[in-house]
Amino acid sequence: MIRKARSVRARLTLWHLSVLATIILGFALGVYFFLQASLLRQIDNHLTRDFATVERVVTQGPQELDSLTRHGNVLFFRVEIERQPAIETESWRKLGLTTLPSTGKEGAVWISAADGKPYRIKAAAVPFRDGMRRIIVAHDGDTFQQSMHSLMVILLLAIPAALVLAVAGAYLLAGRILAPLATMAATARKISADRLSERLPVENPGDEFGQLATAFNETFLRLEDSFDRLHRFTADASHELRTPLTAIRSVGEVGLQEGSNAAACREVIGSMLEETDHLTKLVDSLLILSRADARTVPLHRERTDLTVLATEVYDCLQVLAEEKGQIVSLVAPSPVVASIDRTTVRQALINLLDNAIKFTPQGGFIQVSVERSGAEEAVIAVSDDGPGIPAEHREKIFERFYRVDKGRSREIGGAGLGLSIAQWAVHANDGRLKLEKREGKGSTFRIHLPLSRTI
Ligand code: ADP
Repeated sequence: MIRKARSVRARLTLWHLSVLATIILGFALGVYFFLQASLLRQIDNHLTRDFATVERVVTQGPQELDSLTRHGNVLFFRVEIERQPAIETESWRKLGLTTLPSTGKEGAVWISAADGKPYRIKAAAVPFRDGMRRIIVAHDGDTFQQSMHSLMVILLLAIPAALVLAVAGAYLLAGRILAPLATMAATARKISADRLSERLPVENPGDEFGQLATAFNETFLRLEDSFDRLHRFTADASHELRTPLTAIRSVGEVGLQEGSNAAACREVIGSMLEETDHLTKLVDSLLILSRADARTVPLHRERTDLTVLATEVYDCLQVLAEEKGQIVSLVAPSPVVASIDRTTVRQALINLLDNAIKFTPQGGFIQVSVERSGAEEAVIAVSDDGPGIPAEHREKIFERFYRVDKGRSREIGGAGLGLSIAQWAVHANDGRLKLEKREGKGSTFRIHLPLSRTI
C-alpha cells in the first residue's frame, strides 16, 4: 500500500507531477510517432517515384538505362535479369549489398549496408517484352534515423528537466496558496475559552480559504456568545442564590441573639422557611433551565384539550388570586385539542398566570382564554389589568434573570426566570410565546400552539 503523503502541499505537488508527466509523455510519444510516420512516408514516396522512373526507363532500352545510371537523379538502383545484376549505379555498388529481400511494388523494408548504415529499399519483379526484370531501388535512411535519434535525445533530456521545473514550481505555488491555512491554524491554536474574541484572518472573503475562515469566525462568534451567556448565567445565578442565603444567615444571627424569646424564635424560623422556599423555587427553575439547555427534558406529546389544561391551572392558582381580591375569569367555550407535552405547557401557563397574579394589584381583573386561531393554531391568552410592561423592556423580559423592577420583583418573589422557562416550554412544543403590544394599562401574553391534526 502506498503511504499517503503527509502534507497537502506534497500531495498537491505529487498530483500535479503525475498529471503533468502523463500529459507530457503522451504529447512526446505523439510527436515522436507522428514525425516518424511522416518522414517514413516521405522516403517511401520518394522510393515509389524512383521505382517508377527506373521501370519506365527500363522499357525504353539499354541506352536510356545507361544514361540514367550515369547522369540520372536516382542514386541507388539496380536491375537484375534472372537474379544477375544487369545494371546498377556506382553508388549502389559501393553499398555492397548482397542478399536483397523482395518487397513487392507497394512495400519497402529497411536493410543495413556493408558500412552499417540503414537503407530503405523497394524490390519487385516487373514483366517486360523479353522476360522478367527485378528492379531494386534504395534510399539513404541515415538522415531519417539521425533525426529520429536527435528527437529522442531532446525529448529524453527535455521531459525530465520540464518535470523537475514543474515540480519545483508546483511546490512553491502550493506553499504560497496554502500559506493562509498555516496562519489560520496558528491563530486558531491561540484561541481558547478565555480568548474567544480573537478571529481568524480573512484575506479574501470570496475564495475558499476566506469562506472557511469566515465560517470558523462565525462559529467562534457563536461560541463566544454562548460562553458569555454561560458566564452571565452563572454570575446571575450565584447572585440570586446569595441573596436568600444572606437573608437566612442574618435572620439566624438575630434569632441567636434573641434566643430565649419563643415568639421571636418562631418568627425567625418562619422568615428562614420563607427564604428557603425562595431558594427551592430558584433551584428548581435553574434545574429546569439547565435540563432545557442540555435537551434532557423528556417530552411526551399527547392529544390534549387545552381548555381542560387551562381549567386545571386556573383551579390551582385561583386561591392566590382570591388572597389578593382579584377576579380571574376563564373563557374556554369549546374543546381545543393540540398534541403537546402536558407538563411543559402546564408549567408555561402556570408561570404566566402566576406573573399576572403577582404583578396585578389588589382587586384587579385577570382573564385566561383558550380559542382557535384559524385552522392551524390554538391560542391561550393570559391578560391582566396590572401595570403593564413598558415598551423598552418588552424584548428583554424573556431573557434569564431579567426583571423590569428588580427590587419589586424580588419582594414579590421572582428571580426573573419564569418567562424564560415559559418561552422554552412553548418552543419545545413547537409554539410561540408573545407579549401583545399594548399601550396603557395591563399586559397580555399569548401562547400559540399548533392544533392537533389527528382526528
Ligand atoms: P419573575 O420571576 O420576576 O416573575 P419573569 O421572567 O416571570 O420573572 O418575568 C420577568 C419580568 O417581567 C418580571 O420581573 C416583571 O417585571 C415583568 N412581568 C412579567 N409578567 C408581568 C405582568 N403580567 N405584568 C407586569 N410585569 C410583568
